[in-house]
Amino acid sequence: MLVMMKAHATTAEIERVCRRIEELGYRAHPIPGINRTAIGITGNRGPVDATALDTLPGVAECLPVSKPYKLVSRELREDPTIVDLGDGVRIGGAELGIIAGPCAVESHEQAFVIARAVRAAGARLFRGGAYKPRTSPYSFQGLGEEGLKILAEVRAEFGLKIVTEAVDHESLELVERYSDVIQIGARNMQNFSLLKQVGRSCRPVLLKRGISATLDELLMAAEYILAEGNYNVILCERGVRTFADHTRNTLDLSVVPAVHSLSHLPIIVDPSHGTGRREKVLPLSRAAVAVGADGLIIEVHHKPDEALSDGNQSILPAHLEQLMMEIRQIAAVLGRRVAGGSGEHEI
Ligand code: PEP
Ligand code: MN
Repeated sequence: MLVMMKAHATTAEIERVCRRIEELGYRAHPIPGINRTAIGITGNRGPVDATALDTLPGVAECLPVSKPYKLVSRELREDPTIVDLGDGVRIGGAELGIIAGPCAVESHEQAFVIARAVRAAGARLFRGGAYKPRTSPYSFQGLGEEGLKILAEVRAEFGLKIVTEAVDHESLELVERYSDVIQIGARNMQNFSLLKQVGRSCRPVLLKRGISATLDELLMAAEYILAEGNYNVILCERGVRTFADHTRNTLDLSVVPAVHSLSHLPIIVDPSHGTGRREKVLPLSRAAVAVGADGLIIEVHHKPDEALSDGNQSILPAHLEQLMMEIRQIAAVLGRRVAGGSGEHEI
């Protein structure tokens, strides 16, 4: 159930409703909106008795939730969630967040060469895995904490926000310390204990869609994170497995408007893993922004043939510049802008 407060409900009234919800043995999640605050209730096993709440001062109405997820739902919050990373970098609403960088951090030199190009192209968020979930145990597994330290140096040198993946509880503790956004990868989308742990983190989370996950499963995975109190979740479409074999995965762009109609959370698109082919990254990036994505995550490498992972899908720095230029123009047509402004001029 959702408790919708009146437009002019006071903070004291909102707090009183939350207290009452907690007295009933549930957890209250007050979510302020542009016009009014909605309070989500979790922890109930059956229906919540509305009569205990709808007569309290400031309450407009109590609404049953029609979906299995509550906190991620548009019913709870009409306006879009905008994840604010500081320094003018926001993802959601009118702002697109472009995340770019190598699949994996390989060395200090590699990360710095790519980060310089990412910053010059105007992206404000840098990606790079220090912990890599690889299909083969014999493939490069990432530099671990040494990689995280390189990422922290990238942040200090270029002012880029760091997005990097946690693969388990142990790596999450370290990733939380060094990153600005914690990535939960496709293979961990339904690792419920990891989702709960990241839900207790103060860092925003980038949650990638599982390789064969439905939209409901993706939203329920996000619900795990919000239910623990972390409301800063960015969803990511990264392609799903189908019978098609001309691409590594099938990038399901139709999920973007579907997410927007069901949820207030932002959703970005990963055309690198979504296609697995360098030459398809630019066209699919254009399409993703045109369909309403709240951003992109792009793999970039200055020597893709020597990359320790995902070289085939990594674009060159010069191509990132072209991509950013085109994305800005498409975004402008839609009344949106790329978070962080226009690049070189700001350095
Ligand atoms: C990645 O972003 O490098 C990654 C491993 O992605 P995914 O979890 O979508 O496969
Ligand atoms: Mn990769």
